[in-house]
Amino acid sequence: MHFNHSLIASITIPKTSYSKSKNINEQDTHISFDKKSLPTCSSCGYRRKPYSYTLQKKVLCKICSIEVTRVCKECKKSFPAGRGTICSDCIFQKSLNKKVSKIISYLSPYTGIYFVKFTKWLSGRRGVNFTSVYIEKYQEYFFQIDTLCQETKKFPTYEELLNAYPFATSKSYFLIHTFLAHKNLIKIDKRTREKYANLNLIDKLLNTSFATNSFHHFIKNYHKQLQSKLQLNSITYLTMRLSLSSAVKYLQYCEYFKDNEPSMYILEGYLWIYPGQRNSLTEFTNFLKHQYNYNLTITNIKQASLSRPHVSHQILQKRFLRIIQTPPDKSIKIQSFYKVVFGYLHWIFIPNNVYLSCDNIKKNSKQDFYIQMCAQKFYLPKELVQYARVLEKIHTDQLQEHALS
Ligand SMILES: [Zn+2]
Ligand SMILES: [Zn+2]
Repeated sequence: MHFNHSLIASITIPKTSYSKSKNINEQDTHISFDKKSLPTCSSCGYRRKPYSYTLQKKVLCKICSIEVTRVCKECKKSFPAGRGTICSDCIFQKSLNKKVSKIISYLSPYTGIYFVKFTKWLSGRRGVNFTSVYIEKYQEYFFQIDTLCQETKKFPTYEELLNAYPFATSKSYFLIHTFLAHKNLIKIDKRTREKYANLNLIDKLLNTSFATNSFHHFIKNYHKQLQSKLQLNSITYLTMRLSLSSAVKYLQYCEYFKDNEPSMYILEGYLWIYPGQRNSLTEFTNFLKHQYNYNLTITNIKQASLSRPHVSHQILQKRFLRIIQTPPDKSIKIQSFYKVVFGYLHWIFIPNNVYLSCDNIKKNSKQDFYIQMCAQKFYLPKELVQYARVLEKIHTDQLQEHALS
């Protein structure tokens, strides 16, 4: 590897819309500038003029210094005096009660009872603070459950729920299902969950939008073919999902190229990046060959392998320096950027039928960035990742401008 940190450190990235703007939350906007510059009282958490300091040299406001604690009017527990007349838990509880009574007024009494129970259950698990802030996130699913209850005049089973709302297989619904199982209303079953999780993802894949009209048609018909195999039990929901996902990704990849028709040339480039998708793509390429006469034979494609760049290391170094010393600009082509960077840093050649984008950049558990190609990981310094992102943004913006004009 040829990492040159002094070179990389000299990269300057101009500020664009990519640099994160400061997140101003609603509360902040109500605080005047003067108040914002005040320190936070270490006891009550409000921004106030410092009055005294703790032994650990932490700031205390006047109320917290003199009164220290107060007894909450509601729950009788003591709390930092500077907070007011009731403790923060009671403030959250009050706001939660208000929200809950409003929500249950729209639910049928049957589901309403469970919504109230859920609120209590969640408060016990995650605290009243969390529940009060996030309860509205859960209300919609209760309304959906309510609709099912009213249709079937009974509480739905786990499968009925997922059948009606396949999106509920996602993690965000796990808490509600755990609660319903805890109340013995449903029985969570892993196989059912997996089935509907795959169906949910398949549904999303079927709705992928392509710039090329025929691609949507290919996916729809390929799905039909897979469905008949599923009915014969020759494939599982998981296989079906993986096959469709590879097909969608391959077609999306084709769209990077000027002549975006599926071809051996593009397929070869695709498998160079994702050699692991060879099996899951085989059926789709056969499908395109037999149904739409595309000249695609995946078995004729050699196993992906790495090769050295065709130019000397010195030339690559010059090109690399030229890139990192110029701020990202539309004159730098995205693919040339990757060719130079991987050529210089990793001494590998990126073939012309390979198209890389920021979507290929992943992070490992140590937060290092890499791109996987030919079943190997190639690391990228974070400054170059930032460069690539800005560059990609410049090119996409330019494309959109072209499309508009
Ligand atoms: Zn205070
Ligand atoms: Zn209280």
